Amino acid sequence: MTTGAIATVPQEALDELRATVDGAILVSAPAELRAMSADASVRSKKAEANDTPLATAALVVRPTTTDQVSRVMRWATSHGIPVTPRGLGSGTVGAGIPVRGGVVLDMARFDSVGEVDVTNRTVTVGAGVRLSELDEAIKDSGLTIGHYPQSYYLASVGGCITMRGSGTFSSLYGNIEDRTGDLEVVLPGGEVVQTRSLPRASLGPDLKQLFIGSEGMFGVITHVTLKLVPRPEARLFNSARFGTFEQALEAVRRSLVDGVRPAVVRIYDPVEASAKHTKFAGTPGWLLILAFDGAPDLVAAQEKITLGHVGEQGGDVLGPEPGVNWEQRRFDYSWSTDAVGRTGGVAEAIEVTATWSELPALYERLKEAAAPHMSEFMAHVSHVYDQGAALYAIVRGEFGSDEEALTAYDAVWKSVIEESLRSGAIIGHHHGVGLERAPWMPEALGSGLDLMRTLQKSLDPAGIMNPGKAGL
Ligand SMILES: Cc1cc2nc3c(=O)[nH]c(=O)nc-3n(C[C@H](O)[C@H](O)[C@H](O)COP(=O)(O)OP(=O)(O)OC[C@H]3O[C@@H](n4cnc5c(N)ncnc54)[C@H](O)[C@@H]3O)c2cc1C
Repeated sequence: MTTGAIATVPQEALDELRATVDGAILVSAPAELRAMSADASVRSKKAEANDTPLATAALVVRPTTTDQVSRVMRWATSHGIPVTPRGLGSGTVGAGIPVRGGVVLDMARFDSVGEVDVTNRTVTVGAGVRLSELDEAIKDSGLTIGHYPQSYYLASVGGCITMRGSGTFSSLYGNIEDRTGDLEVVLPGGEVVQTRSLPRASLGPDLKQLFIGSEGMFGVITHVTLKLVPRPEARLFNSARFGTFEQALEAVRRSLVDGVRPAVVRIYDPVEASAKHTKFAGTPGWLLILAFDGAPDLVAAQEKITLGHVGEQGGDVLGPEPGVNWEQRRFDYSWSTDAVGRTGGVAEAIEVTATWSELPALYERLKEAAAPHMSEFMAHVSHVYDQGAALYAIVRGEFGSDEEALTAYDAVWKSVIEESLRSGAIIGHHHGVGLERAPWMPEALGSGLDLMRTLQKSLDPAGIMNPGKAGL
């Protein structure tokens, strides 16, 4: 990992900051600096466990107002001090690690939830609010955020937006870019921008898109207007077992062609199906889990059409139980924390995207690519689109030491990502780039990366905004 020079905050600059941002909390206690400089990535967790943090900020600033953020950014730009925004630290690719030191801007106190506009189905919130707390706060309105990543209890709204995340019900409700209405953003130089595109605008490019997926590099998101969805009147689960991946994919693809929009579509390979769904133990097969949300007549009709395609593809209908079990356990990520928490243990999820026709071969190639490095490989389709789907590959291994585990970890990332590139897949679906995918950004984006660099230079000429990330 190239970190460049580590920036400290000179006393004079610190005094100036104190005088400028009245009301923001400034923290320099070593334990707090260290905690705020780590994230949920495997590399960061292993570094913490071995007392060798990847990086440590010189200062944590906790603002509560847009004006304070603006003042911090102006101050940082004038002193050339790096600023890394932080949501709730659940990122898995190291995007929030302050690799050049400087300031971590902790946005957790931006946790306001405004009045729900029930007629227009919107709510404006602080970027630091936790997804689960926001959803709880608005539940009496009959509306919901429609964005339920596995990190629903761990992630902030702003973090999901800057990482361009996906929730497990995305096949109906869309990804975070579909739930984001407008943004208030503080640019690296301190200017405040309010985008205005709800319900739609034809006034040039949609500027909010510049910040969705920007991983804290183009500005600090302070407030967000979200597009809410009705809490479903009915939710119906069903599931089926198929002999092959191709059959399961085709049943789903044909249902989408017919206009069916399941809320959840998951297709588990035989290894993951038997590991996570006890009914599958000992019975090889691909498990399709479906959920339909909406008015009872609508979900019944969608289920009927889909089961028709399941039958045509030779699937055995298993009923709601696997789906109900999945819903109950969907926030359980002990498969990862248990392995990573053990000395020498490692587990990772690498998600990529491919077209319908590419998916079966891609699955086989990734399995082969991972095999020399990790003892376990399993995968599922996690999000579907008209043109294809996301493949979520899980790798796990046990080694003699954390050092050996990280060597294998690096090797499996390289192998899986390079095989994905060779197969024509998109190398990231929802976890983002951060540090882990950065080496492959030139190949993944081509001249698009130069355009990103141009944008970065123009927005942040001092180069202070979360530097050293995403291959920039
Ligand atoms: C167990 C587990 C399961 C997960 N499941 C999913 C999943 O299903 N779907 C999914 O999409 N992701 C998932 N993730 C990844 C993670 O939750 C997301 O990346 C999340 O979006 C990060 O939000 P955060 O608030 O924790 O941000 P952080 O980790 O604090 O920051 C992430 C990045 O966003 C930037 N950032 C944060 N807030 C702001 C802001 N206000 N303005 C500008 N930049 C900001 C940071 O600089 C950093 O680059 C999972 C993670 C874990 C640990």
